[in-house]
Amino acid sequence: MNTQPLAGRRAIVTGSNSGIGLGIAESLAGAGAELVLNSFTDSPDDHALAADLAARHGVSARYIAADMSKPAECRALVKKAGGCDILVNNAGIQHVCAIEDFPQEKWDAIIAINMSSAFHTTAAALPGMYAAGWGRVINVASAHGLTASPYKSAYVAAKHGVVGLSKVTALEAAGKGVTANAICPGYVLTPLVEAQIPDQMETHGMDRDTVVREVMLARQPSRQFATVEQIGGTAVFLCSEAAAQITGTTISVDGGWTAL
Ligand code: NAD
Repeated sequence: MNTQPLAGRRAIVTGSNSGIGLGIAESLAGAGAELVLNSFTDSPDDHALAADLAARHGVSARYIAADMSKPAECRALVKKAGGCDILVNNAGIQHVCAIEDFPQEKWDAIIAINMSSAFHTTAAALPGMYAAGWGRVINVASAHGLTASPYKSAYVAAKHGVVGLSKVTALEAAGKGVTANAICPGYVLTPLVEAQIPDQMETHGMDRDTVVREVMLARQPSRQFATVEQIGGTAVFLCSEAAAQITGTTISVDGGWTAL
């Protein structure tokens, strides 16, 4: 069995200096892919992360700073990387607030980073994938791309949008060796989720453990967080030959959330 099934493939993972993006980068590197890590910062730690990934997995890895809230930087990321065979649109932020009080700048930022960035990077990456006759676009959506929760208007709107974009990408790419899908995680314990806990505690007037159990994991029947390794493994599967006809769909990794 080939233990390096993605050798020779270059992957860009947006928003990958932390959380799920870093987990996906780890899994893709473990399968032999060359990695381009990204976030909007440009610190020595960011570049060290890529060097560490490269050393541990014996692959080439770089860190390229680009702000996914800015269309030109989304497109420049793909260009600076030299194109890619695998594009993982993962960068995302969250803000929890009732619609009537939702700050306009937060709405704009969430739509830009969580949804529009995927359009811009995909537009920049597809021509190279078409020319190569092979490509994988993997959009990290959410259970909130399929269902809704109160106080998350921008996030739910953006994630539903990303699911729609995945379907359109799949239709346009059909027959060209390029697939596009959305992974829809339930709750995964990452810095993004950690950051939501204080807001949720305030909104619901509950302590941390109660919010985690009764609010966050209330809709996740397994009552367990999904792990970044499970999301990474799903991304590697979507890059495999077994997944060559899986396109334009969503894969839930949510402990049963969307089965309810
Ligand atoms: P995280 O905060 O750990 O990671 C988010 C990443 O996006 C970080 O690397 C951050 O630097 C990057 N980022 C933020 N703004 C950016 C910008 N302007 N430009 C470039 N990069 C930027 O969060 P996470 O939980 O790992 O989330 C990753 C993705 O997974 C998001 O799209 C999120 O919506 C989605 N998701 C997370 C969960 C969960 O429970 N954690 C569930 C479903 C979906």
